Amino acid sequence: MDPRLLAPIPTDGALVSPEEKLAAAQTHTPNLGMTAPTPEGKGPPSLAEMAHQQYVRATHHVSLEPWVVEHLSHPMRTTIASVPVRMDDGQVKVFTGYRCQYSNALGPTKGGIRYHQDVTLDEVIALAAWMNWKCAIAGLPYGGGKGGVVVDPTRLSIGELERITRRYTVEMINVFGPESDIPAPDVNTTSEMMGWIYDTYSMIKGGAAAGVVTGKPLALGGSLGRTESTGRGVVETIEAAVKHKGKRMQDMTACVQGFGKVGYYSARFLAERGAKVVGVSDVSAQLYNKNGIDVEDLFAFARKNKGLIKGYGKAQEISDILTSECDILVPAALENQITSRNAANVRASIVGEGANGPTTVKADEILHKNGVFVIPDVVANSGGVVVSYFEWVQNQQHYPWTEKEVNDRLGVIMERSFRNTVKIAESKSVDMRTAAYVLALERCGEAVKARGLFP
Ligand code: NAD
Repeated sequence: MDPRLLAPIPTDGALVSPEEKLAAAQTHTPNLGMTAPTPEGKGPPSLAEMAHQQYVRATHHVSLEPWVVEHLSHPMRTTIASVPVRMDDGQVKVFTGYRCQYSNALGPTKGGIRYHQDVTLDEVIALAAWMNWKCAIAGLPYGGGKGGVVVDPTRLSIGELERITRRYTVEMINVFGPESDIPAPDVNTTSEMMGWIYDTYSMIKGGAAAGVVTGKPLALGGSLGRTESTGRGVVETIEAAVKHKGKRMQDMTACVQGFGKVGYYSARFLAERGAKVVGVSDVSAQLYNKNGIDVEDLFAFARKNKGLIKGYGKAQEISDILTSECDILVPAALENQITSRNAANVRASIVGEGANGPTTVKADEILHKNGVFVIPDVVANSGGVVVSYFEWVQNQQHYPWTEKEVNDRLGVIMERSFRNTVKIAESKSVDMRTAAYVLALERCGEAVKARGLFP
């Protein structure tokens, strides 16, 4: 993708105050300022650089016409909005909101909204690009989208969060729509907030537009099975990989980094399907027990411990879960975790990426060389958007499905995405991530070409 659009908001590298960061975000113009890529070793690459490098690498393995490759390297539309909100103390604060619709070649754009003080435009564009490839690989009739508001939600009251969410929705009223752009929860956004988006959009447009947003509460047309869908999908692809290698889940040990929505359900389903979970970490601690960790017992402990696992007595604390002894490793916390610094020390033979962007491009090469089988994020963690799609279909048809229907159909799609990616990896002798991108580029490219250029 065009690096000018992905350039990080320029800073001098010094410590930047939240006010300066916000000012920089508000004045950032995508087409200005090109920053040189960050070489690994001098700090991890930005998400945008990573997404760009992955895209370029895959273009060498597809036979698309140059104009199609060029077309797909640019985000279709990015919207930047000021979001003025009256705070509880009576003052008005202005937040910055972004929304990127990466491409609508395959259908309306789809993707979460993130609330975080470090949200940047280039991060939003990179995440929208990943959503784009993810939807194409899963065979969904969607393009990718992503949104974000530069805000630390932990410092706001529930009333302030509601006013931000409703005003952001109004600013995006001509972007969002069941047939144009469908948001969902992401980091720090919840189903309750999706309910506010649904209500605000419907109040302004009229009617009851349940299909404008997914990840809603069940009472508003949310889908059964949505909460655990990403973790469930991660484990579906891991099980497919284990079978592909001629092994059995019962003979596997697993470590999971992160014990949030994705990490907890990944650990739970790994255990349910017979693997022994020997390591779990979160922001507070990294735990290991070679005899196995009871995932539900740990979850119950964390619930009583402000959601954190530190202090759990039935496992010992270790210093690096990513390089611990195990067969399956699930990074399910943050981006840029497996890098050129630690990739050579990864001992797992299968890595299932629950997080977005946990492995850098350099680390990918090292893992591939060492024979580690990586199920890339755009394949492994697509369960969330697949069930979001199911929610949208149920809303459009006014016909809710049973949980079994949701889970069975999710399983079919995850298994198919895995199989199609393996087929390309083997036929083109490329790593799984490049293969996944090839699949996505072929599908998106075919659609771009078939639609042609207007006018
Ligand atoms: P979450 O906030 O629910 O959980 C994040 C977990 O990571 C928490 O347990 C936190 O303690 C832990 N963590 C934070 N910093 C850590 C550190 N330094 N070391 C170890 N653990 C750390 O978030 P989530 O929804 O589970 O998302 C996790 C990742 O998965 C993100 O990259 C997200 O973009 C990606 N993802 C999420 C979904 C989804 O449906 N939630 C879908 C696709 C991808």
